Amino acid sequence: MTPSGPAPATTASPADRTYLLERIDEAAIVQVYADGFRNLSLREKTLVWHLSRAAIAGRDIFYDQRYAHNIDMRDVLEAIVMHATGIDPATLAEIRRYTKLFWINTGPYNNITARKFVLQCAPEAFAAAARAAQAAGAAFPLRSGETLDQLLARLEPMFFDVSFEPTVTSKTPPDGEDILTASANNLHVGVSMQDLDGFAEQHPLNSRLVKKDGRLVEEVSRIGGRYSRYIEEIVRHLEAAIPYATEPMADALRALIRFYRTGEATDREAYDIAWVRDKASSVDTINGFVEVYLDARSIKGAWEALVFYVNPEKTSQIRALAEHAQWFEDHMPWDPQYRKAGVRGVTANAIDVVIETGDSGPITPVGINLPNDQGVRERFGSKSVSLTNINEAYDKSTLPEFRIEFSWSPEEAGRAVTWSAFAGELTTNMHEVIGHGSGKVSERLNGRPQAALKEQFSAIEESRADLVALYFVADRKLVEIGLVAAEDHDAIVRAEYESYTRNALVQLRRIREGTQIEEDHMRNRQMIVRWLMANTSAIDVRRRDDKTYYVMTDPKAFRDGVGRLLADVQRIKAEGDYQAAKALVETYGVHFDSALRDEVVARVDRLKLPSYTGFVMPRLETVTDEAADITDVVISYPLDLTAQMLEYSAATRHLRTMTAP
Ligand SMILES: [Zn+2]
Repeated sequence: MTPSGPAPATTASPADRTYLLERIDEAAIVQVYADGFRNLSLREKTLVWHLSRAAIAGRDIFYDQRYAHNIDMRDVLEAIVMHATGIDPATLAEIRRYTKLFWINTGPYNNITARKFVLQCAPEAFAAAARAAQAAGAAFPLRSGETLDQLLARLEPMFFDVSFEPTVTSKTPPDGEDILTASANNLHVGVSMQDLDGFAEQHPLNSRLVKKDGRLVEEVSRIGGRYSRYIEEIVRHLEAAIPYATEPMADALRALIRFYRTGEATDREAYDIAWVRDKASSVDTINGFVEVYLDARSIKGAWEALVFYVNPEKTSQIRALAEHAQWFEDHMPWDPQYRKAGVRGVTANAIDVVIETGDSGPITPVGINLPNDQGVRERFGSKSVSLTNINEAYDKSTLPEFRIEFSWSPEEAGRAVTWSAFAGELTTNMHEVIGHGSGKVSERLNGRPQAALKEQFSAIEESRADLVALYFVADRKLVEIGLVAAEDHDAIVRAEYESYTRNALVQLRRIREGTQIEEDHMRNRQMIVRWLMANTSAIDVRRRDDKTYYVMTDPKAFRDGVGRLLADVQRIKAEGDYQAAKALVETYGVHFDSALRDEVVARVDRLKLPSYTGFVMPRLETVTDEAADITDVVISYPLDLTAQMLEYSAATRHLRTMTAP
């Protein structure tokens, strides 16, 4: 996937509507618009409606996966926010700040740094607020016989102690711990890496692994298993959607339902195949246990859902890339033995999302390429989507200072203003369509390089996709297939290489504490730039007025270096060379200089530039006739994170246990 970042897309839209809603500390909150929804047929709108209910139904699964205490914590916070009478104003303001960060990060861990953030008021003040809310009628998630004070005492370390379970996913653990014991997520319980020696998982993607009485138990997510109540609800909505789906999509939804019933890997594979075969439907959904970034082992899938429709105007660019996928494969700068012969069609669409939940919302990627199953990809191809309306919302909410502050010269800044949105969208599409879909891995890995590369896999795979985009963005082929004008090509390449280089510096703003990068896309981007600095003459580090600049000076040296590094990264993936992966990522992608970070943070804070963005989704509402049939689905834009989060939580409250006072 391609993660969020300030980037792409200029799309015509009503000039004066609001994108940036508010700032919470270093986060921005931005409204997403889905203008094309109104032009869908009633059948398509009704389909989107049922799929969006399925997306909301599963949201709490991801809350629970990310942290075992998440849902209790959220219920406590929401009880207070919804019954905010008689609470000390300073305490209430702090609870609201924390709750908004909690919602956009899905719990108390920063989505980028993986580190914990805490409530900055006294536990007694928080308890007083909770008691006031209880007196005003709020229900709290009390266990049988538990009082409110006992509940608050139970959750105190989670809300207030930054050193208690400090990291949600730790791929570079402190001494004496391993990647599982140091990770606070709920994907493995009481399990260390050593316990896994010789243990063969039957349900790697969709289970929680728990050590019980000295034995490893796989708790499988399925009807009758883990998350059964949520999954039953998801399935009900998916079943309601089927009559409105195209035949290939209905096949995929039936396969997904079957997987949710059995939890078996063979049914997951059948679903992946059915989903990838549906190439032409105008509406589509991703719903299930998909990306593996939350798991330090890169094995367990985090639950997510997206519902989207194709944006036809924006789709032509990525279709052109997809049509020439074999040409790109044949020209990959890696050992020919790793080139795929007959590249199976990558189905590429520009889409507008209507809702994203779980692992993909409120913080969302800008591009997605699935399925992740390497075996399915090699036999059946993959589908790639570029999230056009997310890109648009990023672009419209990005301040121009962001591009200027870190540019060495006015020419560089000018190129960024002119080209970085265009170049960013183009390389995002290349990353997804010809990056992730490319290459062949050694037979002996059985289509599962993840197993060999373990915690290094995601950073390696994301580097590979980025490097493919950086390598081919400078290729004349793009002019030949009509994606860029010949006279603009050099400026576009230069602008992209410059912005990629600057980003290695600018992204340090996102890690305000510590000196280590945990997030895989950030590791990959840091690694590529730092590797180029060490191994080519393409990048200069310069200082002026006590400010540091990473200056890309030689596009040809940059591209040559990218080609060399890409050849090595492909070899690492194809051979499952764990030692080389670890050496590459840890040498160039993990550690950084804290003084440099402090400088960058001071520069962005002076300009009030956000480090990451949480999105408010559109809202759907049905219009029904006397027979309760849907006659229309109306879209609106809440412009309010709190209202939307409370509405989503209310939709699944009947599936949780809540005790009124
Ligand atoms: Zn990616």
